Amino acid sequence: MHELSLCEAIVDVVEKRTGERPVAGVRARVGPLHHAHPEAFEQSFAPAAAGCVSDSLRAELVLMPVRGRCLTCWETFESSKPIIACPACGARGCHRSAATSSRSS
Ligand SMILES: [Zn+2]
Repeated sequence: MHELSLCEAIVDVVEKRTGERPVAGVRARVGPLHHAHPEAFEQSFAPAAAGCVSDSLRAELVLMPVRGRCLTCWETFESSKPIIACPACGARGCHRSAATSSRSS
């Protein structure tokens, strides 16, 4: 299950950033290139967090759009799916960025 490894990676980051300090929750911003499914993520998080310092750690998954700029026509755009070509001119050379991060609270 892909989401379990994603959740384990998030728990690992939380543990590295907070050490022995208990954490109540974390918000994970994930781009479309991760292909994360919210239900599978929710089901996978509790097993991934079991045994860590914050074993009651909760997670909120925020699906972020991928942002891009066409390198041919310079159009900027957002998409909830991976971008293959510019939606304005169809060129395949696009600069992409997806906000993928985690924050603890
Ligand atoms: Zn374009």
